[in-house]
Amino acid sequence: MKEGLHPSYHTVTVHCAGCGTEFETRSTAAGDTLRVEICASCHPFFTGKQKLVDTAGRVERFQKKFGKQLAERKEKQAQKAAA
Ligand SMILES: [Zn+2]
Repeated sequence: MKEGLHPSYHTVTVHCAGCGTEFETRSTAAGDTLRVEICASCHPFFTGKQKLVDTAGRVERFQKKFGKQLAERKEKQAQKAAA
């Protein structure tokens, strides 16, 4: 390999914020720890479970915006069903 051309490929510890797991992998990332929000052991695609993946309060913002409308709609539907 040519000197000073290739990024250093080294062992890094990956820390997952989603499930708190840590594992080692090899990467060219700077530093020796890699912080991720979600990993293969907690991503819904791999777990097969439905889970809310909330990034920076997006769900909260959505509910603030549409939560009232949705609740009203549900109420109307319930009234229709009861009648
Ligand atoms: Zn994880």
